[in-house]
Amino acid sequence: MSEDTRSAEPDHEAIIIGAGVCGIYQLYRLKELGVGAIVLEAGDDLGGTWYWNRYPGARFDSESISYGYSFSDELLQEWDWKERFSGQPENHRYLSYVADKFDLRRHMQFGVTVESAHWDDDATQWRLHLDDGRDLSCRFLITAVGLLSAPTMPRYEGMDTFAGRSFHTYEWPDDIDLAGRRVAVIGTGATAVQVIGAIASEVGELTVFQRRPNWCAPLHNAEITPAEMADIKARYDEIFALCARTPGGFIHEPDRRPFFEVPREERLAKWEQLYGEPGFGIWLANFRDTFMDEEANAELSEFIASKIRSRVHDPVVAEKLIPKDHGFGVQRVPMETGYYEAYNQDNVHLVDLRETPIERVTPKGIETTEREYEFDVIVYATGFDAVTGAYDRIDIRGVGGQALKELWAQGPVTYLGLNVPGFPNMLMPTGPQSGSASTNFPRGIELGVDWVTDLMQYMWKHDYTREEATPEAAADWGAYVAKLYEIMLMRKAQGWFTGYNSNVEGHEKGTIRYVVFNGGTPKYRQKISEVADDGYRGLVLS
Ligand code: NAP
Repeated sequence: MSEDTRSAEPDHEAIIIGAGVCGIYQLYRLKELGVGAIVLEAGDDLGGTWYWNRYPGARFDSESISYGYSFSDELLQEWDWKERFSGQPENHRYLSYVADKFDLRRHMQFGVTVESAHWDDDATQWRLHLDDGRDLSCRFLITAVGLLSAPTMPRYEGMDTFAGRSFHTYEWPDDIDLAGRRVAVIGTGATAVQVIGAIASEVGELTVFQRRPNWCAPLHNAEITPAEMADIKARYDEIFALCARTPGGFIHEPDRRPFFEVPREERLAKWEQLYGEPGFGIWLANFRDTFMDEEANAELSEFIASKIRSRVHDPVVAEKLIPKDHGFGVQRVPMETGYYEAYNQDNVHLVDLRETPIERVTPKGIETTEREYEFDVIVYATGFDAVTGAYDRIDIRGVGGQALKELWAQGPVTYLGLNVPGFPNMLMPTGPQSGSASTNFPRGIELGVDWVTDLMQYMWKHDYTREEATPEAAADWGAYVAKLYEIMLMRKAQGWFTGYNSNVEGHEKGTIRYVVFNGGTPKYRQKISEVADDGYRGLVLS
């Protein structure tokens, strides 16, 4: 490597891809340190998830008070959350407020897509090509690209022939009016469940096309009064300390008592209580054994099934809505508001795709093996190429031109979910196999961003310009991540936590893709802190 090339300064010390919750905080940290960093964002505004997902009913499933950033006391004291589970418009306002308060917008460029990022080992720089034709270089490439930001569409014949309007929930048009229209929703994941609850009373006819039902639980949203908000502001330290010690990073702490040592009546009483309380409590404040023990999980699932039967009047429809292929909580639980009651309305219909699969989309609507349904609007609530999808959509190449997509073809290869061998100076605050992917997202984001920023500071302090994970360290991490799946019933579920997506080639049912760290936030924090304290063991710094 010639001295000349090596000393050539890149355009920016750091380029952050993505202006979502992660990119905003990462930019804040670097700006506080006076580092030359910019954010490149494909959307026309900041917000990430809370910019794109503008579908009716989009809101937090985390308690608002545990979702906001924790890094600034001033911010915590200034911002008033208005609902227990705040809706998309307010969440977007919050993120805009943060960016404006800390004067971050001027370092953000919107409407630009990074097409490629290639590592130049001679110059110790990343070289980016953008869709507006520009080329940019940086020392550190920070991927704040989101976990659920690569939407996926089904592969039905005739989708482009439909004469009405059709779109993915991630790209909900601003100008659509569903009042009185005949609407199809394909999918029954967390997004569909929010949409269906929100639009059922407004539309003319709503037909839900369900392949596999999900176990859903009531959100119990409500307003936060000014008095409650004042109390919350006084308790933020306590709230964030609680999030930090729970496996999911939420305010819900698991019950660690052995399931079968607690009398059945007491278990049932606990479930009744949790089902009536707001948020993920019924999932995450439940007995820890329900995540690992088939029998315990089956009993809980039966309790939830009885709730569905009591809420849905037509017993045939109720049975269709009860999952039979997996137990409650082995996948992330969609939180609902009036979802099950929607099926009691005369204008809402359920089509079970396991009985009558979709054959094609026609100019008029959707044709199943049974009949053709006519629609004005088709909503694809068909999910995401989760966790690795946003990476796969950029042509990322590391040492020797190796493509990241190829390295990850069988599943991600990472060290701590933060680094990838062969991809020096690419830092992933919420990467695949990180703890940030399986927790209350902002809590994991702050953890990942702080670790990445600490590493950069360490490198500047010691005059290092290059970091790279060793293949051995990545192999050990991958084996550890895989082992953690073994004890969880989740390994049997076909959801995004196991890297499943029927619409993405190679991600269909079959092999598990180990995309998240399942050891819980406290364990993850401990692991990554130990590595840092040990002079970044597993990374080669030069
Ligand atoms: P998802 O959970 O992956 O659900 C996608 C749905 O579409 C599933 O019901 C799936 O059926 C169905 N589907 C996919 N392809 C299909 C096809 N070709 N034909 C028929 N049906 C098809 O995606 P999501 O609902 O967007 O949620 C993803 C994640 O986003 C959630 O787990 C959650 O973490 C997050 N989220 C959070 C909130 C919140 O409350 N804050 C709201 C929405 C989403 P199968 O199950 O049979 O594949």
